[in-house]
Amino acid sequence: MKNFHVAIIGGGVIGSAIAWELSKYKLDVVVFEKGLDVCSGTSKANSGVIHSGINSTPGTLKARFCVEGNKMFTDLAEKLGFSLKWTGKYVIAKNPLESQEIDRLIKVGKKNNVLGLEIHTGAVVKKRESNLSCFEALWVPTAGVILPYEFTIVLAENAVKNNVNFLLETKVTNIKKYEKGFKIETNKGVFSSNILINSGGLSCREIVSMVEKPDFKVYPCRGEYLVLDKNYSNLINSMIYPVPPAKLGVLGVHITPTIEGNILIGPSAEFIDDPDDKKTTLHMMKTLLKEAKEIIPSIPENAIISAYSGIRCKLLSPQQSGIADYRIEESKRTPGLINLLGIESPGLTSAPAIAKEVTKLISKFYNLEFKKDFKIIKKQPRFSNLKENQQFNLIKKDEKYGRIICRCEQITEAEVIKALSNLLHARSISSVQYRCRAGMGRCQGGFCTQHLLRIMQEKFGMKIDEIKMKSPDSYLFTGYNRELKK
Ligand SMILES: Cc1cc2nc3c(=O)[nH]c(=O)nc-3n(C[C@H](O)[C@H](O)[C@H](O)COP(=O)(O)OP(=O)(O)OC[C@H]3O[C@@H](n4cnc5c(N)ncnc54)[C@H](O)[C@@H]3O)c2cc1C
Repeated sequence: MKNFHVAIIGGGVIGSAIAWELSKYKLDVVVFEKGLDVCSGTSKANSGVIHSGINSTPGTLKARFCVEGNKMFTDLAEKLGFSLKWTGKYVIAKNPLESQEIDRLIKVGKKNNVLGLEIHTGAVVKKRESNLSCFEALWVPTAGVILPYEFTIVLAENAVKNNVNFLLETKVTNIKKYEKGFKIETNKGVFSSNILINSGGLSCREIVSMVEKPDFKVYPCRGEYLVLDKNYSNLINSMIYPVPPAKLGVLGVHITPTIEGNILIGPSAEFIDDPDDKKTTLHMMKTLLKEAKEIIPSIPENAIISAYSGIRCKLLSPQQSGIADYRIEESKRTPGLINLLGIESPGLTSAPAIAKEVTKLISKFYNLEFKKDFKIIKKQPRFSNLKENQQFNLIKKDEKYGRIICRCEQITEAEVIKALSNLLHARSISSVQYRCRAGMGRCQGGFCTQHLLRIMQEKFGMKIDEIKMKSPDSYLFTGYNRELKK
């Protein structure tokens, strides 16, 4: 049984950011992820916003890591090649009463050292956002958007490139503490490590309870979204937020332009019992559309192409306000167990700063030494975004760049093959979608899924009844019809 210096439970954005940060040092690191791929949990289903820090109470860990994380993104995007757009955001006041809330946000922002905040009159806002009417608005230039799954995958694959072991479809089922470390039981065998990092997201309590009695509870809170077709991307230029509702520590239903040109409407906020209940509901779809139309009345109903939901990991119930700070700490009762608890929004923004903090905690145990051969693999731009001569050169080298597999997003066969050849060996349909975007356009895979299946079989030797959509039991084919039955 190999003993690792550090074992990380959870390959969400937090676990992957920690893995990447640790991969810079001479340490043996393993990540256990129960999903078919990294970014299987909350990290893939959020607004994708790099928050500025105007919403987090000054002095909290949320405020600190949000502001520190925000400042790291320009450099990270440049180095790792993931997409980042500083769209800026408007928080709009519909009337003078709501303006009082804007004054409060400015005060919070200033205390958190958020730069560039400005108040714009309704007329100025109208010039920049012609579909929007408001009394006045707070302009926040340091807010941006990323593709959360692209960011997580890039971090994880870079960690693998630097010898971190990512074990997918590996669920931690029990943990035993020994004098010098932990024995970690999984569905794929038993492992051991000196330090254990619990970045299990919504399962953080379940993981703690494998080692000690938890002193906290998790209250899952579902947020549903609507996705609008790219044809409506010119409805807005920046993110549009209402003033935050005075409850539950959520930001309210906002309208967010994505990197790819779609627009998101959401999220709702609904406390639920089952943390896996990621359904979307007709009732909430109607509510989201209604609330979005109160901000931008011209949103057409037939612009909606998809819906999804993500679950917040809240440490306080709605009766207790729903607002708690992060807990990022070594357990007092179990030395070597580092818990990341209640990492709700702005967790995506905070991830790189949290990873640095966790590294600092680990430096108490090890004298961290940089790897001389630390490497960076930069994500390459998509074929459809290249100049014509660059596309031509690629097709000359590999004719598979000349074959379009996904018509909606213009993704080539060569890109699909590259996505399937990923360093994590993740081979689900959604692994392909998240790496190259095939199947994520208007037809949502109606045309290209058959081609993905063909490539998976022909080039990767996969059997048709092994192919899964996105979760360990999501087989695409579960039986044969009469003619094909073997
Ligand atoms: C609706 C919504 C909107 C949000 N919007 C934003 C935003 O715009 N900006 C922002 O900064 N933040 C946002 N957030 C917050 C952000 O998404 C989260 O803070 C972040 O994704 C948490 O990452 P994580 O790695 O802790 O959790 P997760 O992504 O859930 O990762 C935990 C991983 O652990 C794995 N796991 C669990 N148990 C086990 C086990 N026993 N064995 C092995 N693996 C296990 C899971 O499969 C999962 O992949 C939003 C969140 C929600 C819900």
